[in-house]
Amino acid sequence: MNLGMTEKISCLVNDVRDLVNNRIIPFEAEFFAEVAASSDRFSYSKRMTEILETLKSEARAKGLWNFWLTNSKKGFGLSTVEYAYLAEEMGKCRLGAEVFNCSAPDTGNMQVLERYGSAEHKKKWLEPLLSGEIRSAYCMTEPQVASSDATNMSLTALKQNGSYILNGEKWWASGAGDPRCMVYIVMVKTGDDNSKKHSRHSMVLVPSNAAGLTILRPMEVYGHDDAPHGHMHLSFNNVRIPTEDLLLGEGRGFEIAQGRLGPGRIHHCMRAIGQAEVALELMCRRGLSRTAFGKTLVNLGANFDIIAESRINIEMARLLCLKAAWMMDNEDERTASTWISKIKVVAPRVALKVVDEAIQMYGGQGISQDTPLAAAWTHLRTLRLADGPDAVHRRQVARSELKKYSNEQIK
Ligand SMILES: Cc1cc2nc3c(=O)[nH]c(=O)nc-3n(C[C@H](O)[C@H](O)[C@H](O)COP(=O)(O)OP(=O)(O)OC[C@H]3O[C@@H](n4cnc5c(N)ncnc54)[C@H](O)[C@@H]3O)c2cc1C
Repeated sequence: MNLGMTEKISCLVNDVRDLVNNRIIPFEAEFFAEVAASSDRFSYSKRMTEILETLKSEARAKGLWNFWLTNSKKGFGLSTVEYAYLAEEMGKCRLGAEVFNCSAPDTGNMQVLERYGSAEHKKKWLEPLLSGEIRSAYCMTEPQVASSDATNMSLTALKQNGSYILNGEKWWASGAGDPRCMVYIVMVKTGDDNSKKHSRHSMVLVPSNAAGLTILRPMEVYGHDDAPHGHMHLSFNNVRIPTEDLLLGEGRGFEIAQGRLGPGRIHHCMRAIGQAEVALELMCRRGLSRTAFGKTLVNLGANFDIIAESRINIEMARLLCLKAAWMMDNEDERTASTWISKIKVVAPRVALKVVDEAIQMYGGQGISQDTPLAAAWTHLRTLRLADGPDAVHRRQVARSELKKYSNEQIK
């Protein structure tokens, strides 16, 4: 099991790190200050577009683009283990993943379109997504049902004269606030309650400007609207789509969701480790440079232990992440999924703890706009819910453990 950096990847890591440190981070504060000042929340000012598009063109010109196409003949053909090292670097700043066209939810959506889209879907949606011209959203979660159990999804798609008619609500559709977001992948209920539980749902493509589709409101994350990306609450009122925009086949929504969510989940974890590294660096630098009670902060209280524990936990999380990535490269989806669940619990939890301690070391400034820590904390806290709450992933891990000792079906 080789979890180390290959030669190919170490060059790419240096290139990505260079762009992150020397180009993206210097512009990021200005980008988010523009967002904060904007009254039209879900739009891009001229300057925001200029910053983002300049950085994207630089990445594209250097060929640092679409790394996420792992185990594919397209792109770099990286393994998931190799991608982990790059995603960690991209996770060190907020615009990183988008600048390299490796951001959620687009990568997962592109994977779905690549795997299950028709030639027409690929032309219409995949190509502009791959070139970074448009963005997309993934709509599974619904307000009225416990969405950690996806068999509960209730937005209906009824077949009628060559179309599906969609009715219901979705919320927490990340990225649906972005004016560049042109297409949603939506989980819908096509089967009735008598059909098999895991064959009742399907995935369809819905253009964001479809008639009958309304953005009700942006959901707030600890009081922030996360503009211009946004996590939108959507209403589907008799939204009509052609039957050709059903992916894979009726009742095969779960198959698609499993394939989609695995890579998306681990990519979040890889970036979370990058965020933890940034936080630990800030914690150390701050602790060494500030004095209270006649000592530098690192020498006060339990701060040595906090720094040591942070380093130890990051290393453990990274190794687990790399092992899960290796499982994805070498084992079947079912085996790998338990490993993805393990890291999906560990990475956000470890990173959140490190970021929280870094905030503490910073004092008041730690929760302000002056450091990246507050935004990182919010993001990592939500990651303990998004793409499956911790409890659901722990359940997966426990079931696979118990199966070793029981022939009975573990529910
Ligand atoms: C910032 C953010 C972005 C998101 N982006 C998207 C997106 O782009 N697209 C999308 O479709 N969704 C998105 N989500 C939604 C997210 O995936 C759901 O919130 C999540 O799946 C949980 O569903 P729920 O909110 O309905 O919670 P529920 O299903 O009601 O669960 C609530 C709680 O019940 C407990 N619980 C549930 N199951 C178990 C179990 N098996 N064992 C023990 N306890 C359990 C857990 O504590 C869980 O947190 C996002 C959420 C957030 C916060």
